[in-house]
Amino acid sequence: MMLNIGCHLSATKGYRAMGEEALKIGANVFQFFTRNPRGGKAKEVVPEDAKALLQIAEENEFAAMIAHAPYTLNPCSTDKRIREFTKMVIAEDLEVMEHFPNNFYNFHPGNHLKQGVTVGIQYIIDMLNAVLKPEQTTTVLLETMAGKGTEIGRTFEELRQIIDGVILSDKVGVCFDTCHVYDAGYDIVNDLDGVLEEFDQIIGLERLYLIHLNDSKNTLASRKDRHAKIGEGLIGKEAIIRIINHPKLCRLPFCLETPNDLAGYEEEIKMLRVAYQGSYE
Ligand code: FE
Ligand code: FE
Ligand code: ZN
Repeated sequence: MMLNIGCHLSATKGYRAMGEEALKIGANVFQFFTRNPRGGKAKEVVPEDAKALLQIAEENEFAAMIAHAPYTLNPCSTDKRIREFTKMVIAEDLEVMEHFPNNFYNFHPGNHLKQGVTVGIQYIIDMLNAVLKPEQTTTVLLETMAGKGTEIGRTFEELRQIIDGVILSDKVGVCFDTCHVYDAGYDIVNDLDGVLEEFDQIIGLERLYLIHLNDSKNTLASRKDRHAKIGEGLIGKEAIIRIINHPKLCRLPFCLETPNDLAGYEEEIKMLRVAYQGSYE
């Protein structure tokens, strides 16, 4: 089996262009922002463009397409208008994603802004209960967060609490960001097995759909969230290679969000494909 890996791509030239770009750099996974990261208007989906991407994805056995919500959304803002705007954007984005059935929509759970984790989590639950639909084929992913400021999602327990409150919880999964998890204080360098066991006990590995593969510029438990290129941070190349080869992770899609241009991504993808030993079947 081949490693399912890719990276974040720019969506400005459309869907087909992203598929072609992914192919060019040896990726069979890619992620993009549904609209500009500041949360501008959604772009109209051109049906032929969407179809062209679906065809590329099928012919080349793409493992996953991930739409990433804009960073500026906050489902647990103190400002009702921002909460409502977030709900509207995510509902709209989920509609767009149905052009690409059975893929993923990833978002940062939110910042509680001193309202406290409990209040914040309830707002996130309310938002998900308002936007999720029984007929949708997209799985919505809560991303594990570094715990910068008042970010929710630093601990596996917080993500579990969100999932527990969602009625259509089979539509909800988790994206494990290696930089964030490390910055949050989970030692994936010296105790990957232990961290995965904890994840399994609290959330359940069956909820894990995606890995954001990043090195970190900061130390364990720094709560900083600064991504580094693979091998140029404190997680290091060896630990990253253990992650892609771990029997509990090796079949998942991996998406790089390292500070790279396309050539840099191509190189990282190539290096990781060489380091991949195949899944243990
Ligand atoms: Fe993210
Ligand atoms: Fe991420
Ligand atoms: Zn990050």
